[in-house]
Amino acid sequence: MTFNDLKLIPEILKALSNENYTAPTPIQEQSIPAVLEGRDLLGCAQTGTGKTAAFSLPIIQLLSAQKSKPSTIRRIRSLILTPTRELALQISDNIQAYSKFTDLRCTAIVGGVSQKVQERALNNGADIIIATPGRLIDLINQKRIDLQYVQILVLDEADRMLDMGFIHDVKRIITKMPAKRQTLFFSATMPPEITKMVKTLLNNPVKVEI
Ligand code: AMP
Repeated sequence: MTFNDLKLIPEILKALSNENYTAPTPIQEQSIPAVLEGRDLLGCAQTGTGKTAAFSLPIIQLLSAQKSKPSTIRRIRSLILTPTRELALQISDNIQAYSKFTDLRCTAIVGGVSQKVQERALNNGADIIIATPGRLIDLINQKRIDLQYVQILVLDEADRMLDMGFIHDVKRIITKMPAKRQTLFFSATMPPEITKMVKTLLNNPVKVEI
């Protein structure tokens, strides 16, 4: 299979070719069509499988198909939650590369760096944010971020977020966005607490296991 077979738009195909990706990985083959169709997704996959592109590419395609707005009213339409700062920055770098031929903007919201710089990026308008739960909760508490236009939520490494004690923050963040949305949920393991979350958050998900 090729990326062409997955019906990706030319802007994305060009970016993938720049990255020297020649063919989709198994998780990409299975996830991309489901996400493009608007389905919820449950992925049991480790890092290193091509998971980031599996969720990012269809998100970029879905969002860039919508009429773009001037930057002053650009809204956050996708939120990607991830347990660590390193992972958030890595996902952000990947999405920058995959979306460079579109007009989408993405930014990382993580702790340990100046909040001012992140506020400025938010004020300039972002379509996609990649966040760790702690810093995002701070910005929500300060009413500096609005999640009510989020259409696609990604929970990446959900089991690690549970282990790191973020689950309460994650549940609170989810209450700040619309219930009617597409949710993509990734976890390498399925402990009972995660299974419970999957049942409440996902609507008839496509299951992808690698
Ligand atoms: P991930 O599992 O998302 O962390 O991806 C692991 C690594 O594989 C990253 O360095 C990606 O840039 C790379 N990668 C992802 N998809 C592909 C692909 N289809 N072809 C070649 N490399 C890829």
